[in-house]
Amino acid sequence: MSGEVLFEDAPRFDAEVPVAIIGAGAAGLTAALAAREAGAEPLVLERDPVPRGSTSLSAGLIPAAGTRFQRAHGIADDAAAFAADLHRKAHGKADPALVETLAAQAGATVEWLADRFGLPFSLVHDFDYPGHSHRRMHGLPSRSGAELVDRLRSAAEARGIALLTEARVTTLVADRARRIRGLIAERPDGARERIGCGALVLACCGFGANKALVARHIPALANALYFGHPGNEGEAVLWGEALGAALRDLTGHQGHGSVAHPQGILITWAVIMEGGFQVNLRGERFWNEASGYSEAGEAVLRQPEGLAFDIFDARIAAIARQFEDFRSAEAAGAVLTADSPEALAARMRVPADAFAATFAAVEAAKRAGSADRFGRDWSRTPAPLLPPLHAVRVTGALFHTQGGLAVDRTARVLRPDGTPLPNLFAAGGAACGVSGPDASGYLSGNGLLSATVLGRLAGENAARLAA
Ligand SMILES: Cc1cc2nc3c(=O)[nH]c(=O)nc-3n(C[C@H](O)[C@H](O)[C@H](O)COP(=O)(O)OP(=O)(O)OC[C@H]3O[C@@H](n4cnc5c(N)ncnc54)[C@H](O)[C@@H]3O)c2cc1C
Repeated sequence: MSGEVLFEDAPRFDAEVPVAIIGAGAAGLTAALAAREAGAEPLVLERDPVPRGSTSLSAGLIPAAGTRFQRAHGIADDAAAFAADLHRKAHGKADPALVETLAAQAGATVEWLADRFGLPFSLVHDFDYPGHSHRRMHGLPSRSGAELVDRLRSAAEARGIALLTEARVTTLVADRARRIRGLIAERPDGARERIGCGALVLACCGFGANKALVARHIPALANALYFGHPGNEGEAVLWGEALGAALRDLTGHQGHGSVAHPQGILITWAVIMEGGFQVNLRGERFWNEASGYSEAGEAVLRQPEGLAFDIFDARIAAIARQFEDFRSAEAAGAVLTADSPEALAARMRVPADAFAATFAAVEAAKRAGSADRFGRDWSRTPAPLLPPLHAVRVTGALFHTQGGLAVDRTARVLRPDGTPLPNLFAAGGAACGVSGPDASGYLSGNGLLSATVLGRLAGENAARLAA
């Protein structure tokens, strides 16, 4: 059974490595690069033939404060402002030590990835992400996570880091003191390999693909579309339970309320933040879209048929077009276009009168620079929507889970009493992040923030421990 722990006092293994890393997404590959830099020879085990993970499905954007990329755009940001934004979005419910660590080290991590491994980051400088007081999202040229995972893998390969693909780790082997002695990986032909390790990094993400765990911890999204990597079945949580580790905020997650339906393509939330809005199939608005896209998942799913439309215009489409996904959505015919609200309503098949009234109310609130009845403040996005107008039919989805194993400032997995397990580390979706227990606690980029910063810390510290 996958997710079990065998307790053996004198285990035997087919091979021994100093540091084993389970999962080759952003967290695992960053951990591997850091472990290698710290002098260890890590082994990365990945269940897929080619590493992709949820990382490849993301926009690959990493939030970081005080970087030279920000300074080049004249943005004065720092870790304290970033930490304050994280706390505010998580309603003060995230672990303060972890918030401080991630906010303080994100800048150095992005610059380390750029300088040491040649990842050509640039700042998303032309629009705001909800909840961030400064523009601090850093991405690669394609603004796609596939490029991020490919470049991390190339960097690992260039450094001779061993990557064992088609190796699904099913079982951990530990002694009575809860020290990890090794693991068992299953190969496609059913063969099982026993590999011993000095330290172990769990980088196998969360439990979004495990229907039973989602139903238990996030019942509101039990039947929602899961938009993350299908291989993330929650072994980290199961192993953690068996080892007596502390598990935190398992209800926390990132949802999304802007997945083109039925095409299943992510429509960037920039279409909303730049002055667009959402309506349901009745042509009516239903919430304050500026709250964030994570909570949008549940907001949209509560609407008739679990559907809504994103409404925006050509100016906003031009901004969104920097994302490959948006270009794919256009190519797939998901983006409807018309010259007036009435004509757009006809294309959307929603009541024209209701939609025209909704559209007029939004434009009036923009002109007044005031907050509307949902509490959305339009003074930051006063530009009117001008023809040609666009609409995309969207639904809500679960992207990834944010709860997981509690870790300290060095990415070591903790027991409920706050003491660390002897040699176990967690990063990315396997670890509890900084979003707290609610979907609304997710600040844009919290996923890759935890994957890259905790990944680096886990790799470095696992290498030190195993030395
Ligand atoms: C559509 C989408 C958009 C997103 N956009 C962003 C964004 O722009 N910015 C942001 O910060 N976050 C974003 N996220 C979240 C982000 O993608 C994740 O938080 C992040 O990729 C997690 O990284 P990870 O390395 O922990 O997991 P993953 O990238 O999922 O990697 C985990 C790896 O572990 C492997 N694995 C799992 N179990 C096992 C096992 N038992 N044995 C061996 N291998 C195993 C998997 O195959 C996978 O390759 C987005 C997520 C989605 C789904």
